[in-house]
Amino acid sequence: MRQKIVAGNWKMNKNLSEAKELIKEIKKEVKTGLEENTRVIIAPSFVNLHNAVKKTKKSAIEVAAQNMHQSKNGAFTGEISADMLTGLGVGIIILGHSERREYFGETDELLAQKVAAALENELEVIFCFGELLEDRKSENHFTIVENQLKKALFHLKAEDFKHIILAYEPVWAIGTGETASPEQAQEMHAFVRELFTKAYGAETADAISILYGGSVKPANAKEIFSKPDVDGGLIGGAALKAEDFAAIVKSI
Ligand code: 13P
Repeated sequence: MRQKIVAGNWKMNKNLSEAKELIKEIKKEVKTGLEENTRVIIAPSFVNLHNAVKKTKKSAIEVAAQNMHQSKNGAFTGEISADMLTGLGVGIIILGHSERREYFGETDELLAQKVAAALENELEVIFCFGELLEDRKSENHFTIVENQLKKALFHLKAEDFKHIILAYEPVWAIGTGETASPEQAQEMHAFVRELFTKAYGAETADAISILYGGSVKPANAKEIFSKPDVDGGLIGGAALKAEDFAAIVKSI
């Protein structure tokens, strides 16, 4: 059965003491009692993962990392491997975020390698994709998304998608305060599910959770999440305040 998921991407925010405080507050707000098939995930920065795993152990909250290197190990100064993450007890990784693509040059080809490395190490992947404003204006958004998904994911086998969560994040809606309308989100999510139906069959396509990300807030979460192909959200700014994040979790 398809899961409903709210994930908070903390990006490069919160030092250790701030992260500890935020986790404490989120734990107060998001107690147990989540509905079956509903998951809440937080993705702090690398340096705060150890503490986050420790502090969420007995809670309903799961911990993800925001990036990893595709190699097993080696001379890659400043990088983190899948094995280091699983060694900490992290089970989920965000890959393909538009900020990684834009500021760190991550290509679909590189992402295909990172996804493969994550799955080999039994990490679950939250795979982000989405078009730029100019792509939408020129009505190329479906083609862009199709290419991103095909290049980075379609080398996988159907069963691999049990370990993949998709996150549609139109770049023009990230951190801008401008959200895709619930209809725009639904339209793209349905398009993506159809791509998976064609490539892998309806059973695989129906089971994949597709999250929406881009200026999700307590005020708009419920309407966006009410769409049939929107299975939750990947939250940036609003995930940094426990009250807002909890309100979004309650909207699912
Ligand atoms: P905002 O919610 O701040 O727009 O960020 C979305 C995002 O990039 C989540 O990964």
